[in-house]
Amino acid sequence: MGNDPPMTDEAFRATVRGWLADNLAGEFAPLAGRGGPGHEHEFVAERMAWERRLGEGHWIGLGWPAEDGGRGLPWSQQAIFHQEYARAGGPGRIGHMSEQLLAPALLTFGTPGQKARFLPGIASGTEVWCQGYSEPDAGSDLAAVRTRAELRDGEWHLHGQKVWTSLAHIADWCFVLARTDPHAERHRGLSYLLVPMRQPGVTVRPIRQLTGTSEFNEVFFDDARTDASAIIGAPGDGWRVAMGTLGFERGVSTIGQQAGFQREFEEVLGQARRTGALADPEIAGRVTDAWIGLQVMRYTVQATLGASGSGGTASAGLPDPVAPGTEANIVKLLWSPWRQRLGELAVDVAGPDATLTGPGYELSDSQRLFLFGRAETIYGGSVEIQRNIIAERGLGLPRG
Ligand SMILES: Cc1cc2nc3c(=O)[nH]c(=O)nc-3n(C[C@H](O)[C@H](O)[C@H](O)COP(=O)(O)OP(=O)(O)OC[C@H]3O[C@@H](n4cnc5c(N)ncnc54)[C@H](O)[C@@H]3O)c2cc1C
Repeated sequence: MGNDPPMTDEAFRATVRGWLADNLAGEFAPLAGRGGPGHEHEFVAERMAWERRLGEGHWIGLGWPAEDGGRGLPWSQQAIFHQEYARAGGPGRIGHMSEQLLAPALLTFGTPGQKARFLPGIASGTEVWCQGYSEPDAGSDLAAVRTRAELRDGEWHLHGQKVWTSLAHIADWCFVLARTDPHAERHRGLSYLLVPMRQPGVTVRPIRQLTGTSEFNEVFFDDARTDASAIIGAPGDGWRVAMGTLGFERGVSTIGQQAGFQREFEEVLGQARRTGALADPEIAGRVTDAWIGLQVMRYTVQATLGASGSGGTASAGLPDPVAPGTEANIVKLLWSPWRQRLGELAVDVAGPDATLTGPGYELSDSQRLFLFGRAETIYGGSVEIQRNIIAERGLGLPRG
């Protein structure tokens, strides 16, 4: 895919809107608004097919350089795509980690051979990636990773366990943080390996969540193998690549996330109107607070992306990974408790219906939002860790 002929933002918006209207129809119509955190169990096969449809339309990798198979679109048009996608009710992206985490890592730290091997599978929506960082004793303290990898006969051999690995049960590949030098100091002995999931040395066990479904897993490596070349950066350089990867989480897709929150808010507001719950001043106050929270997030995200969208890799829609500020931490600290509170509001608005449960009972969206809300302040770095980072890096306070 070469560089598209330049289009005005208005024309581009109309193109995106038209494509989504034409394609989020027929077999894909039931996917509108489905999937995403808390709903990852929904329409999995159909959403995988949707990824491929997005790939066929060249809607994956919009900001990647044309020579790497992207469209080289400016940041403003990537933002438009995400806005329109959320507005149309585009389903939660199974390829989120592939496109938003691994692809930027490959573009920034990968070799030409790695880019040529792995970017096409991401761009076509045919290869799904998961993130293998956390372990039973290495979550917030990620440098404590114990999964080990040893280079023998042209292959890395992996032994160890990962946990909370989202979508590992459907992923083709995993980007794994592993210890390759047991003698080096904590952060120094780690490497960033690309490991195929479908092999005898990998076992995936689902973890059942409060919602009754499983979107994350335990992953066991028992002499799992990957080629010697499947390492991003040098051996021992994994910490830098892993942290760079996390830095990409504040990318332009945050715009779509915000639009999704807006839609969830409107659903809760709509239900509050229908049930008469707004007559209760306490509920009305919480609805107002939720709306204010949305505005605060919107302005913060605009300022954040503005700050990171001005140069370096950001010109390709990729924030600079080596000099991350604390903007992403602030945004996470705003949205995660906000969405948790929205879930609490949603069940209060639903009233006694929210307590319904039982065998074979399908949770309502309000119940799911409420129950999954417990995870919001944990994944992607807990709120306590976000505060620590802001305090230490942003304010220069002493380490706790
Ligand atoms: C829905 C979901 C999806 C996830 N998906 C993935 C995934 O795909 N891949 C992956 O690798 N991981 C994933 N995770 C794991 C996630 O990154 C970790 O849960 C998170 O980093 C916290 O680590 P932990 O669970 O080990 O908790 P711990 O680190 O043990 O923390 C427990 C509590 O102690 C607090 N705490 C810990 N250290 C400090 C400190 N220094 N100062 C103050 N408080 C502290 C924490 O904030 C937390 O409240 C996912 C988690 C969830 C909930």
